[in-house]
Amino acid sequence: MRSEPVVQVQALVKRYGTKTAVDGLDLVARTGVTAVLGPNGAGKTTTVEICEGYRRPDSGTVRVLGLDPVTQGPALRPRIGVMLQSGGVYSGARADEMLRHVAALHAHPLDVDGLIERLGLGSCGRTTYRRLSGGQQRRLALAMAVVGRPELVFLDEPGAGLDPQARRATWDLVRDLRADGVSVILTTHHMDEAEQLADDVAVIDAGRVVAQGSPEELCRGGAENTLRFTGRPGLDVGSLLKALPANTSAVEPAPGSYRVTGTIDPQLLATVTSWCAQNGVMPDRISVERHTLEDVFLELTGKELRA
Ligand code: ATP
Repeated sequence: MRSEPVVQVQALVKRYGTKTAVDGLDLVARTGVTAVLGPNGAGKTTTVEICEGYRRPDSGTVRVLGLDPVTQGPALRPRIGVMLQSGGVYSGARADEMLRHVAALHAHPLDVDGLIERLGLGSCGRTTYRRLSGGQQRRLALAMAVVGRPELVFLDEPGAGLDPQARRATWDLVRDLRADGVSVILTTHHMDEAEQLADDVAVIDAGRVVAQGSPEELCRGGAENTLRFTGRPGLDVGSLLKALPANTSAVEPAPGSYRVTGTIDPQLLATVTSWCAQNGVMPDRISVERHTLEDVFLELTGKELRA
């Protein structure tokens, strides 16, 4: 299912004066949902705006649905949907009018009333854009991005600033788009959004992709995990360490509480339990703590996600 590249970026460079915002970035996004994560100023928006055709690269190659966004923009634009953070909307127009207007520009739009209902915009259809709340404006921007049934949609933090119910409706819509074969490039600062929605995550830092993979792959490969067990105090941790693979540590941080850190896989778990059996130790409790995407992000970029 994830075989088709929808976005291919090679050696992309973009400078603003002396500032290099994107610095030789390589990225392949395939069908499905790809989340682009990175700290503030990493170059996410610049990269995505180049893919959308809003900015020109200084060098490098960009293909979106096989097309060059600069030279083949007119052919590309009807096939993609873009959720803008702000702007691009006449503030005096009514929400439902705007959505119907965008729908009318496409050959096979989604049902406008159904979309309004799904995104909880039913009560504000007749309200002008400027009078909508921030969360309602974001939901309208999402609706406008998807109403034309694009093949690929670029979403910028679709769940940000929404109440829990609206957030869930938004995420459900993204899942349904994916199930309908629509590919999604999702820029987000929110780990839970990436974990919930993404097939693939690309972490961008200082203008480059520093890691890419499924959330599971990144959590498995990027950071060490921890196994904890409790037993009688004073066990011979040195002998446990000898049984464990290299690059694994074993300590007793508090009496009777043991911590093994490293790549925790089924084999390592078996080694620990078998060592316990050989030493007559019956662990009262044994647990494996997997690192979250947020831990991996911190490890890769050294920065908090919501800086
Ligand atoms: P954020 O998470 O804060 O939205 P980002 O990862 O999207 O950040 P970009 O907006 O692509 O990052 O910005 C990358 C760098 O380029 C930043 O240092 C930013 O200040 C700079 N930059 C972006 N747009 C411009 C511009 N129009 N003129 C000058 N510098 C810019």
